[in-house]
Amino acid sequence: MHNRSGIYFHIPFCPKKCLYCDFFSVTKFSKNTLVEYGDALLAELESRFNELSGTETVSLYFGGGSPSMMDEGFFRKVADRATELGIDLGSCEFTVEVNPADIDESWIKNLKNCGVNRISLGVQAFDDAVLAEIGRRTTVADMEKNIPVFAKYFDNISCDIIYGLGKNRKINQELEQLFWLASFKHVSAYSYSRPERENAPQLLDEDETLLQEKEIRDFLQKKGFSRYEISNYSLNGFESKHNMLYWTYGSWLGIGAGAASFIRKTGVSSRYADDIGAFIAGDGLSSVELTLHERLEEFLLMGLRVKIGINLNDFKELFGKDFLELVSEKTVSELVSEGLLDFDKNAKIIKCTEKGSDFLNAVLIKLFDAIRN
Ligand code: SF4
Repeated sequence: MHNRSGIYFHIPFCPKKCLYCDFFSVTKFSKNTLVEYGDALLAELESRFNELSGTETVSLYFGGGSPSMMDEGFFRKVADRATELGIDLGSCEFTVEVNPADIDESWIKNLKNCGVNRISLGVQAFDDAVLAEIGRRTTVADMEKNIPVFAKYFDNISCDIIYGLGKNRKINQELEQLFWLASFKHVSAYSYSRPERENAPQLLDEDETLLQEKEIRDFLQKKGFSRYEISNYSLNGFESKHNMLYWTYGSWLGIGAGAASFIRKTGVSSRYADDIGAFIAGDGLSSVELTLHERLEEFLLMGLRVKIGINLNDFKELFGKDFLELVSEKTVSELVSEGLLDFDKNAKIIKCTEKGSDFLNAVLIKLFDAIRN
C-alpha cells in the first residue's frame, strides 16, 4: 500500500475567462487580494499539514486559475515554508501551471531558484483561429516568444491540449510546431466537454473528435510517448507524480478557494467553498465522509484510468474485501473475453486494455452493477 501524498494550491484568478472554462476562478481582483490570498494559503498549509502525517510528500502543485498572477516572493515563501515543514524539495515534483501569455524571464528564473522543477503550460491549441474561438488570451506569437524561455530553464515541461473543438483543425501540424519550440516530456490531451453557457464553443461531432484524438495519439506515439492514463501521455519516467496520486488513491491536501482534499487513511474528503473572501477569512472548509460504496467506485474509476491498473492486494487492504468476490470472477472473465480488461492472476493486477480505455464507461458500469447486486 502506498503512502505518498501531495499538496495542491489553487490560484483562482484569471484576467479573462476562457469561453470553455468550467473551473472556479474570478476575473476581478486587486493586488491586495492576491497578497491576502497568498498569506491565507500559507496559513492553511501550516494548519493542515499534519493531516498528511505518516505520508511522504512527493508533489507540490500550483494550479488554477492562473498561478502566473502570483508574484515572485509568494513562491519563495511557500518553498521556504514547505522546507521547514520537512518536505524535501530536491526529491519532490514541484509543478507550476503557467499561461504562456503573461510571463517575463525574471519570474521564470525565480521559479527555478525556488525549486520548481516542472512547468505545465496551458497551450490548448496552437492556432490563432482556435485560440480566438475558445477565448484564450494567449496567441501563437506569445507562445513562440515565451515557450523557448521556459525550455531554457526547465527540462520537464508538460502542455495541455484540448480537442473536440475547432472545425477543420490540423492538430498534427499544431503539435509539430509546438514541439519545435520545446522538447515536451508530458502532454495532457483533454476532450472538450461543453459547459452549459450560451457563448461556449460548439462541440465537434463524434467522428471529428475521434479523428483529432487519433492524430494526437499517433503524433505522440511516434515521438516515443506512452499513454499512461486515458488523457495523459509521457516519455518514460516523466509521468506526473501529482496526477498519479489522484489515480492511485494517494492522499492530497488541496488548499485554496474551491480546492478539494482527500486523506487515504481516513477516507475523508474535504473542500473549500468557491469563495475567495471566505478563504482569506479562514472559513469555507467542509468535510465529507464518503460511504464504502462511494469509495469503492472512486477507487475503480480512478485506478482503471491508468495503464498500471489496480492492485487487488491494495484493494483488499483498503476496503477489507476481496475484489473478485465482490464483483464475481464471472464479471471479470466476461470483460477479459470482450478484450476490455487484462487480468494478471500472479501479480494480482487488473487493468484496462487499449480498447477498454476507449470504452471505460462501459467497463465501469458493468463493475459498478456487479458491486451493487
Ligand atoms: S486560464 Fe484556465 S482557469 Fe482561467 S479562465 Fe482559462 S481555462 Fe479557466
